[in-house]
Amino acid sequence: MRIVILGAGYAGLRTALDLARLRREHALDVTIQLVDQYPYHQLIQLLHLTATAGIADQKTIYQLDRLLQGREIERVEGRVTAIHPLERAVVLADGRTLTYDRLVIALGSETAFNVPGAREYTLPLHNFTHAVALRKHIVAQFTKAASLTDPTELRITMTTAIVGGGYTGCELAGELAVWADDLCRQTGAPRTEVRIALIERENQLLPHFGKWASDEAVRRLERLGVNVFLNTPVVQVEPQRLRFADGRILRAGTIVWGAGVRAPALLAEAGFPTDRMGRVLVDRYLRVDGQAFIFAIGDCAAVSDGRGGFLPPTASYAVRQGAHLAEVLAAEAQGKAPRAYEPVELGEVVSLGPNDAIGNALGVPVVGYPAVLLKRGIEEYYRATIESA
Ligand SMILES: Cc1cc2nc3c(=O)[nH]c(=O)nc-3n(C[C@H](O)[C@H](O)[C@H](O)COP(=O)(O)OP(=O)(O)OC[C@H]3O[C@@H](n4cnc5c(N)ncnc54)[C@H](O)[C@@H]3O)c2cc1C
Repeated sequence: MRIVILGAGYAGLRTALDLARLRREHALDVTIQLVDQYPYHQLIQLLHLTATAGIADQKTIYQLDRLLQGREIERVEGRVTAIHPLERAVVLADGRTLTYDRLVIALGSETAFNVPGAREYTLPLHNFTHAVALRKHIVAQFTKAASLTDPTELRITMTTAIVGGGYTGCELAGELAVWADDLCRQTGAPRTEVRIALIERENQLLPHFGKWASDEAVRRLERLGVNVFLNTPVVQVEPQRLRFADGRILRAGTIVWGAGVRAPALLAEAGFPTDRMGRVLVDRYLRVDGQAFIFAIGDCAAVSDGRGGFLPPTASYAVRQGAHLAEVLAAEAQGKAPRAYEPVELGEVVSLGPNDAIGNALGVPVVGYPAVLLKRGIEEYYRATIESA
């Protein structure tokens, strides 16, 4: 059975590694191809650290050749541009075509630039390249500010506006607020002029966490010097300028767009049923609705939460779906009935700068240093699972 996995992120890499292990354990007759546009696996959860010099670049990415060494997983580097279910074929940007018996779609999500001007005039933070570009931009702004004398220009240059109060926005705002001390020392930019605005359309931050977490996050971020604006929809972006629904304007030399994600357009173009975020609808076995041989997992899949909604796009769900799908595929390869996927809510932790975090562990709220330790533990555990699978 030829299994092609699209995307070597949290979900796709997990499926590939676990399937290779199950093949060894059960002598399965399967071949595994893992396709990604990059030669590396990215720890997207750490991009806010890469963007603020909080971690060495080489700790945010793993070269796939190193991770896959000795595991008999064929790595294919290429950008997927189309999927043709009837021909059981995947087309890459360079014209190559891959055929499959079973296809796993784990292509993650993209930044949703859902406001006019956002795509043109803001910086996203959704992959390693974005993070490095954002860091260079921020350093350049602070360096420029050190020699400015015009107060208006100085104010704009030293203002960073982060749109979107989810993981990306909260984690970046917290990290930047602390990094600003070092950055001002290194560049000579005036610390008193640093302004960080975190702008959220809804009445709370971190929508998947509940009101208590939002209140805690606002309090803790404001303590670090971040100005949090709730109930503040952005309706238009222009160069160095955000326009809000109530007519107010904020001018900022750095505007980061973290206000939503959507699945890659090629999934709807392939004819798969999708939800309003472009995610592919799947059944309890993570199989795409109406497709016998195609599965979808992670951010690009709309997986039922069992309560009438869909699971949120998080790395922890992506990893567990990846592991489950490896079992489903192994069962199919052995002619056995697969087990249905049951989501388990283990909880999430969000960092608010290097020394603070909030989260819930199995439904129990956790804040401050214990949450920081928990976050580090989750990261180390994840690293161990991919390095030693
Ligand atoms: C800044 C930031 C912080 C976050 N923090 C957290 C956190 O603290 N906790 C948490 O649980 N979640 C967090 N998330 C969300 C989490 O990162 C995602 O839910 C997770 O990455 C989803 O995993 P995935 O495997 O579905 O997709 P990804 O990890 O994005 O992997 C998708 C893969 O597909 C590849 N790909 C995409 N399109 C193509 C194509 N056309 N051709 C070839 N390859 C392609 C990509 O290169 C990538 O390797 C954060 C996200 C961001 C952006």
